[in-house]
Amino acid sequence: MRVRIIDADRVLTGTGELHSPGTVITTDDRIAWVGATEAQLSDWRGHRVERIRLRESTILPGLIDAHVHLAFGCAVHPRPAIQHDTRLAVAATIRRALRELAAAGITTVRDLGAPRYVDSDTLATTTPPTRVLKATIPLTIPGGHCYSLGGAVTTDSEIARLVAANAARGAEWIKVMVTGGFTVSGTSSPYEPQFSDHQLRVIVAAARDHGLPIAAHAHGITGIRQAVDVGVDSIEHCTWMTDDGGFDFDLGLVNAIATQQIMVCPTINHEAMTARGRLPWAVRREQLTVMLGAGVRLVPGTDSGIPRTPHNKYAHSLPTYLDLGLTPAEVIDLATRRAAQALRIDHSTGTLTAGLSADLIAVPGDPRQDLTVLATPILAITAGHLHYPAAVPTTEEYTRR
Ligand SMILES: [Zn+2]
Repeated sequence: MRVRIIDADRVLTGTGELHSPGTVITTDDRIAWVGATEAQLSDWRGHRVERIRLRESTILPGLIDAHVHLAFGCAVHPRPAIQHDTRLAVAATIRRALRELAAAGITTVRDLGAPRYVDSDTLATTTPPTRVLKATIPLTIPGGHCYSLGGAVTTDSEIARLVAANAARGAEWIKVMVTGGFTVSGTSSPYEPQFSDHQLRVIVAAARDHGLPIAAHAHGITGIRQAVDVGVDSIEHCTWMTDDGGFDFDLGLVNAIATQQIMVCPTINHEAMTARGRLPWAVRREQLTVMLGAGVRLVPGTDSGIPRTPHNKYAHSLPTYLDLGLTPAEVIDLATRRAAQALRIDHSTGTLTAGLSADLIAVPGDPRQDLTVLATPILAITAGHLHYPAAVPTTEEYTRR
C-alpha cells in the first residue's frame, strides 16, 4: 500500500469543514484520513510513506468541468470533417487534452461528444490523468449539429442501435443535440428543435433502458421546453436565444427546470464576461441570476475543446459566477461537491472524505479570499496519481519501521 501524507496551511474538505493547519492522508487511490495536522494518524509501520509539506497553501477537492470535448482540439477553424481525421490524430488530441486538464487541477470532466468511439478506445488503453465521464457519440439528425461525429439517427431502430452501441462502448451519459448549434458543422438552426417529440421520447426511453442519464444540448426555447417535457437530466447551454437576435426567457419553464431538478450547464468559458455580440454578459448574467434564484441547479462547465476555449481555463471561468452574487466558497462548492452530485458521482468524488477517490488539488493562498488562485494549482492528484502542475513542493520520502 502506498501512503501519502500531505500537510497544508488549510484543508477545505468540501463538506463544510476547515482544518488549519490540515492534513490529507491517501492510501493508493483513496482518501484515508482528513483532519487537523496535529491529530493525524501516524502509525504507518510497514508502509512506504511519502510526505508532502505545502506552505501557504490550501488543499481542496479536485475541480470538475461538467462539459468538455477532449477530441476537439480548440482549433479556431474546426475542420467540418472531423470524421476524416485519422483515429491516431484524434487519440493524440484526447491525450493532450487530458494532460492539460490534469495540470490545471481538473480531476473530473464530463466529455459530451467525440467521434467514432476514439474516446472509449483511447481511455481504455491509458490510465487517464483526469477522470472522464464520457458520452461517446452524440445523437443528432442527418446533417444536423455535430453530425460529423457519426451520430445521425432518424428511425426508432437507428436510435435504439446507437444508444445501445454507446452503452456497450462505456458511455456514462447519452448526449442528444436537441437543437442545432454554432460550432462544428451542421446545417440545422440553434434556435429550433432538430428532433420530433416522438424521436426525443424514443431517445430518452433507450437511454433509460441502459440506465444512462441524458444531456440535452439546447439553445432556443422550443428545444429547452422539449427537453424539459421529455425529462432529460441536464440541459447544456440553455441560452434562450431567438433567431431575430433576441432572447425568449420564460420564467414558467425555468421553474419547471428547477422543480424537475434538471441540471443546467450554461457553458461559461473564461471569456464569458467580456463576450459581445450574440451572448452579451449583461443578458446572460440576468438569465443565470434568475435561474439560480428559482432554484435551478447550475453546474459549471466550459465546453473546452471548441474554438477559443482551452482545456486548462476552467478555473479562469469560475470568477464569472461571483458576478451572479455567489461567494467564492459557494463557487468552489459548485465546482466540486455540487458538480459531483449533479453528475451522480458524489459517492466517489467531490469532497475530501475518507473512503472517496483521492482527487484533490492544492493552491497557493486561500481560495475563499481570492478565487483566482484556483488557476495556479501547485499540486493535483487524481485517483492517487500525483501531478505537480506549476511548482515543485518539498517532498520527503521515507519508510517507517
Ligand atoms: Zn459542447
